[in-house]
Amino acid sequence: MQNAKAYAASSATSPFASTTIARRDPTPNDVQIDILFCGICHSDLHQVRDEWHDMMPTVYPCVPGHEIAGRVTKVGSSVTKFKVGDLAGVGCMVDSDRTCPECKQGFEQFCNNMVLTYNSPDKHIGGVTYGGYSDTIVVDENFVLRIPANLSLAGAAPLLCAGITTFSPLHHWGVGKGKKVGIVGLGGLGHMGVKLAHAMGAHVVLFTTSPNKKEDALRLGADEVVISRNADEMNKHTGSLDFILDAVAAEHDLNAYINLLARDGNITLVGAPPKPFQIGAFPLIFRRRSFSGSLIGGIAETQEMLDFCGQHNITSEVEVIPIQKVNEAYERLLKSDVKYRFSIDMASLKG
Ligand code: NAP
Ligand code: ZN
Repeated sequence: MQNAKAYAASSATSPFASTTIARRDPTPNDVQIDILFCGICHSDLHQVRDEWHDMMPTVYPCVPGHEIAGRVTKVGSSVTKFKVGDLAGVGCMVDSDRTCPECKQGFEQFCNNMVLTYNSPDKHIGGVTYGGYSDTIVVDENFVLRIPANLSLAGAAPLLCAGITTFSPLHHWGVGKGKKVGIVGLGGLGHMGVKLAHAMGAHVVLFTTSPNKKEDALRLGADEVVISRNADEMNKHTGSLDFILDAVAAEHDLNAYINLLARDGNITLVGAPPKPFQIGAFPLIFRRRSFSGSLIGGIAETQEMLDFCGQHNITSEVEVIPIQKVNEAYERLLKSDVKYRFSIDMASLKG
């Protein structure tokens, strides 16, 4: 066992504070990573504040962070995929059973025994897993990703969650040339959705509640921007979108978006606000529209996404902050006041 520096919340209402946590020594299959950057996902905030209590109650102290980018410092004796000095990434999962049908088909995220990067039982040292708001992490090499060398590390970290969570459904629902695609919410996930859908060749319409994000959305790859609180602007798109990705972190009216779908159009929810939605039957049954959800992506697909981002030079737009600003960052996240992802510079934890 070894000690690591970390930032933890000790209850749903406590601010983050500096602490020391235990990490296991690398087993033969493990890679130890010096964490250089960690993105702040809205899921971190939901989890730390125990907003998902009914689904995934939070165990305290909680060290969140699942957008981890760093450098390998140690490898176990059986590790073949990484060597000391390699760039490495870790996303939302650190293990799964690897034997179930989901794992065998590359859907580790749907494995019943999937282990989340934080707040999951830790079979190695007991307690729960601790995430990336820390200086180091030890992970099985099969759950460690390669980060293309041409990408900035601060901007690549958010790809490990925001990138794959948007890439996977865009890919699954056949987004590409000739498709009209809506992205709802220009936050951490949404801005990656805009960039990726644009790179896949789709016509991208960004729906936002924030008029001041319009210019940025166009710069990031949106072909059109709709202020979603303006009914006239919304109505212009009725029945026209092939696919909509909803990446909003708060309650909002989904029926307004379902009405914008074309025949057989699909709206996929990746946003995970705690309260259930109310969905009318009529917006769905007319035009045979469908409504689904999506959870991150499998390990192989995450690597595919990182390689795609490497080829297209895609990273997240980040505001780099020291870890000491994490409490302030959470308050700003709640006000949609981040362009467009906070990336924590972990050098600040070492000082
Ligand atoms: P974020 O950076 O806070 O972005 C959320 C965006 O939603 C905001 O920027 C804002 O965009 C919009 N929004 C906020 N409040 C709104 C409201 N009241 N009505 C309408 N729009 C509103 O959050 P994120 O990190 O991208 O995460 C988004 C959601 O996805 C979270 O619930 C998170 O837990 C979830 N998530 C799910 C997965 C998965 O695997 N399914 C993975 C990661 C995250 P505008 O200003 O443009 O309106
Ligand atoms: Zn996330």
